[in-house]
Amino acid sequence: MTKTIYPGQTIGIIGGGQLGRMMALAAKEAGFKIAVLDPTMESPCGQVADIQIIASFNDDSALEELAEVSDVITYEFENIDYKGLKRLTEFAYVPQGAELVRITQNRITEKAEIRKAGVLIANYVVATSPVELKATIEEIGFPCIVKTAFGGYDGKGQVKLNSKEELKLATPLFEHGACIAEAFVPFTKEISVIVQRNGNGETYCLPVGENIHKDHILHQTIVPARVSETIITQATKAAEQIADHLQLVGTLAVEMFVLENDTIVINELAPRPHNSGHYSIEGTTISQFHQHVRAICGWPLRKPTLHQPTVMVNVLGEHVVPLSNAISKYPDWSIHLYGKEEAKTKRKMGHVTILTDDINKTLQEIDHSGIWSE
Ligand code: AMP
Repeated sequence: MTKTIYPGQTIGIIGGGQLGRMMALAAKEAGFKIAVLDPTMESPCGQVADIQIIASFNDDSALEELAEVSDVITYEFENIDYKGLKRLTEFAYVPQGAELVRITQNRITEKAEIRKAGVLIANYVVATSPVELKATIEEIGFPCIVKTAFGGYDGKGQVKLNSKEELKLATPLFEHGACIAEAFVPFTKEISVIVQRNGNGETYCLPVGENIHKDHILHQTIVPARVSETIITQATKAAEQIADHLQLVGTLAVEMFVLENDTIVINELAPRPHNSGHYSIEGTTISQFHQHVRAICGWPLRKPTLHQPTVMVNVLGEHVVPLSNAISKYPDWSIHLYGKEEAKTKRKMGHVTILTDDINKTLQEIDHSGIWSE
């Protein structure tokens, strides 16, 4: 049953990272109160929340406390405790349900569902041991990528194999449980679509973003993606098809590879606002965070349209000081920092968004700033 949640009521967020923080900031504009569950005090979301519950995500009594103070509950990342979330759905209002978290926590169930939705993915096999991998890998061939089924992100928990001789490189991955091996996709570009849907089935996609990674971490998102109209249409349709198949409520990020023959292959899903959608805070008529709040609160969704071409660049630990020193030079840059205390190397600390009439000129400006040079 879809409920409407009104300003003045409280949104509970499981997870206190930057996604929760940006969700909370969007919700507070409309007058919602925020409660957050996170193991750390003054987390990025905790700093802007009304209520902080400090406990681990699988702490039953903390989840009960969150339910008690919240009128609706959402989550900001998928590696939360599925069983805890499932239990929460029995006594709290969790319009997104727990099923999508169960599916996307595990690459095996995720890939099976993407296939069921009728969308293309790279060929893959499942293996529970190095011996099984050796026996089945021929179905995929080389090069291929072996990934842990559970818990990988930003390229962690995966290894590329170029030949049979390299099979032993994948052995340590099995310490974390079952793995999948998938064909290496010779992509020309990586893109993503953020699709959002409310309980009435109203669905909108953000404009397609082109993603550039460095060391497996998202570095830049360029919107509109520099791909053909055919790709934009295919990508948007695929995201909507997956959202419909999963009966999505809330937000789903769909990462895709673009191939030379102008087709797409789905890489992976994230059941939450996504780093590649941060550009929408300034770049579109409604941000992924505002839309997420509307979706879980049973409000009608708004069609997102792009104000202007937009570039988003991530700010990692090593970029914080050079960025701060450069603020006076770039009045057109929107600076976002997430309030994390320790600027560790490679840790996501914030991002910069730039609206532009000339993407190439802006990419050059970013380059010339020297902030992101190696
Ligand atoms: P993932 O954690 O699955 O998103 O993988 C992280 C990154 O590894 C992706 O953004 C790609 O750049 C690369 N990658 C993952 N899977 C493949 C694949 N099957 N073929 C080629 N590159 C891949």
